[in-house]
Amino acid sequence: MITRTLGNIAAMCGGELLASEAGAVDTKIAGVVTDSRKITPACLFVPLAGDNFDGHHYSAAALAAGAASTLWQRNKGPAPEGTVIVVEDTLTALQQLSAAYLNEIAPHVVAITGSNGKTTTKDIVTALLQGQYVVHKTQGNFNNHIGLPLTILAMAEDTEIIVLEMGMSSRGEIALLASLAPPDVAVITNVGESHLLQLGSREEIARAKLEIAEGLKPGGLLIYNGDEPLLAEIMLEPSFRAPEGMQTFRFGLNADNDDYPTGMMSHSGGMTFTSHLYEEHAFTLPLPGRHNVINGLAALAVARQFGVAEESIEVGLSTLKLTGMRIEVMQTASGLTLLNDAYNASPTSMKAAIDVLQSMKCSGSKIAVLGDMLELGPEEVQFHQGIGHYLDPAEIDLVFTYGTLASNIAATAKQRFGKERVFSFTDKAALTTLLLNICKPKDIVLFKASRGMKLEEVLNNLNTHY
Ligand code: ATP
Ligand code: MG
Repeated sequence: MITRTLGNIAAMCGGELLASEAGAVDTKIAGVVTDSRKITPACLFVPLAGDNFDGHHYSAAALAAGAASTLWQRNKGPAPEGTVIVVEDTLTALQQLSAAYLNEIAPHVVAITGSNGKTTTKDIVTALLQGQYVVHKTQGNFNNHIGLPLTILAMAEDTEIIVLEMGMSSRGEIALLASLAPPDVAVITNVGESHLLQLGSREEIARAKLEIAEGLKPGGLLIYNGDEPLLAEIMLEPSFRAPEGMQTFRFGLNADNDDYPTGMMSHSGGMTFTSHLYEEHAFTLPLPGRHNVINGLAALAVARQFGVAEESIEVGLSTLKLTGMRIEVMQTASGLTLLNDAYNASPTSMKAAIDVLQSMKCSGSKIAVLGDMLELGPEEVQFHQGIGHYLDPAEIDLVFTYGTLASNIAATAKQRFGKERVFSFTDKAALTTLLLNICKPKDIVLFKASRGMKLEEVLNNLNTHY
């Protein structure tokens, strides 16, 4: 984490240090905190003003609780007593501070964006690199204009590579993140339909993702999903500004990519596939689904760029730990298998999760519990109907939907499954009761919905009662 004197900090964020005590300029901070409930000794408290609360109310308390100093936004009135750094805007100061710290430590920057698979790919990339490098990565999903600066400021001084997840919901957001941390290597996992509501079209989504390429350092490498024609098309548009000497690498399932998997096999330990990057070496990724092979290929291309040896990759894959709730496979006490993918959903990721369920071997019944996919814009009904058509009645036994939008999944699924295998709910308690009655040991139950649906509540109920 960042340790610098208050004098340095003020210079790094363009602020003015006000201190009642002489010598404060040489006091060192230990880390940066924006949450007043998480003050640590000698931290710098950064109060941010949100829609519902303003961190400036907590600056005085933060100092009393042991913070070395607090930032203070000039227009917020008189600063509290004590050691304060006055800035024009606390969010901008936080971002500037992180950019200055990154510049001083100067690790290689790997930045990952895409509609789905950012966190997973970030976790795989880190696992592959850390056998040979000191690596710092985004914790959890800290991928926005606040989370990214905090990630950078938490980095140790000896970091050699920082792996950053870059998220967005509208144009310009990735451009800002990439300007704070210009990547040496940028990854675009895919282009889906998430945030279609805000962006209006898949072309606009692709353009927004490609801001990460425009932000690359000169000579930087863009690793992108070659199965998505939009990315290559948009890079040909006159408005796309490639950095000087940009290198590109395409991965995907199609054999015309720079790397693609062959001999793909799904088994209880995950997915085995051969990557052509590593002299026809077969790797086993301890994660289910073809979509994770795609994420794995992107990660292998990053590892290759940093010269990671095959043996380090094997070790990295065997110790891979993922951030929770991404197709987490759970066994209940009585042997029911629950696939927890209730973290979020878009059409692309829902199809990926359905692929996983459909490809699993099962001696009981396979059950899909699917909830609303939110923020899809005017075509939301068609997207849900599309999922209903995607479900394969030969591979899935029962379908449950939860929510008004998801009832469109049920309506189309019924055409091929028949009425007796598809159930539609808008009441969570009723859904839970029916599932508790129907599920048997040996069944596999997939849970997938947008975050706002909180479908994990149903899953937790099943987990406790089985
Ligand atoms: P968020 O936008 O919430 O940060 P993310 O891009 O970080 O999401 P992950 O958390 O890695 O994505 O994965 C979320 C879900 O997306 C997974 O559980 C899986 O269902 C699906 N998914 C992951 N990778 C892919 C992929 N390459 N293609 C399609 N779907 C994917
Ligand atoms: Mg994420």
